Amino acid sequence: MTGWIAIAGLGPGDERLVTEEVRATLAEATDVVGYIPYVARVTPRDGLTLHPSDNRVEIDRANHALDMAAAGRRVVVVSSGDPGVFAMAAAVFEALERRPDPAAFDIRVLPGITAMLAASARLGAPLGHDFCAINLSDNLKPWDLVERRLRLAARAGFAMAFYNPRSRSRPHQFGRALEILREECGPDRLISFARAVTTPDERLETVTLAEAVTEMADMRTVVIIGNADTRRVGRFLYTPRSAG
Ligand code: SAH
Repeated sequence: MTGWIAIAGLGPGDERLVTEEVRATLAEATDVVGYIPYVARVTPRDGLTLHPSDNRVEIDRANHALDMAAAGRRVVVVSSGDPGVFAMAAAVFEALERRPDPAAFDIRVLPGITAMLAASARLGAPLGHDFCAINLSDNLKPWDLVERRLRLAARAGFAMAFYNPRSRSRPHQFGRALEILREECGPDRLISFARAVTTPDERLETVTLAEAVTEMADMRTVVIIGNADTRRVGRFLYTPRSAG
């Protein structure tokens, strides 16, 4: 097979945060596949065909990429942030697993700066100690499981980053998540809402859990909640590296 697939992360938004590796790979590609707003971030040029597709068709998109690679095309599958974080890399491997000849494909995963790390850098160092990332969408898992993980992670003392905190199709769940966090962490725990980080629409807001309301988050927001030691220093927020 002469074709290949590169599953690439475009970073959180700022073009300066696209890696050289991703840039060079896009320059060699014949085809770019991905969710409409991410494909829109790739500059069109002669010899490059853009294949934007709608959300929630990840497996179809992955199969399309595999088919094109099998036909000799050089395909870049784009995600925002990092492709391995709630994004296309796992979808491509899921599609690959169903093929009779997975080893025949030339596939690379090219990392990018994920939203929580871009947000964390803007805020200071809220993820300076142990932390975890939870996708609050119940698109691919039951909501019960989200609640359970949230509660156990809070009890374990992790700082947490929440992806996909809130969407129009499930307006009430984030409120429920805040309720659970207030039960487990108390009203004074600091929580940050980092919206559209590194883009012109960027907005950062840090409040206590008592002050947090669901409207502070939307689909372009990554939410970061500190652990019990997370505190402010000047305009920054940080979590000490030591505990216990
Ligand atoms: N692969 C992506 C995440 C895709 S899930 C990554 O690694 O960042 C989509 C979610 O990511 C959004 O709902 C939001 O929670 C978060 N997100 C992506 N880009 C963001 C940005 N620039 N600022 C804040 N959150 C962002």
